[in-house]
Amino acid sequence: MKIEFKKVPTDKKELKTEFNSVKIEGTFCRISSSLVKIEAKLSGNIDIDCSRCAELEILSLDEELKLILSDGVFKGEEKDEFLVIEIENSLIDFDEIIESELNSVKSEYHICKECLQKDKLVEQEF
Ligand SMILES: [Zn+2]
Repeated sequence: MKIEFKKVPTDKKELKTEFNSVKIEGTFCRISSSLVKIEAKLSGNIDIDCSRCAELEILSLDEELKLILSDGVFKGEEKDEFLVIEIENSLIDFDEIIESELNSVKSEYHICKECLQKDKLVEQEF
């Protein structure tokens, strides 16, 4: 789903889009001529590599997504709970936003259940 920056309404609009079986559901609205606010929930299942044994594991996502999209370079003040994303070409591409969110989740340190189990066994032995 793509939408032009200037076409985003100033009233909250429902956001519902899906990319590779991961969903974003929530609202988005324009808060100034160059800023769009997104408050949504990211949910779905993704495959993630274990950082230790590289085994793929399915992780179910359920994350709050609070984003400020800036049309070009962001000049405002950063708000703590909101992540700022600078948009090029004045075109908001929600698929791209989901994809980059997923990539950041995937790049986080993750240990699979089996490795966690092994850790527990080691702890019990000593
Ligand atoms: Zn593992």
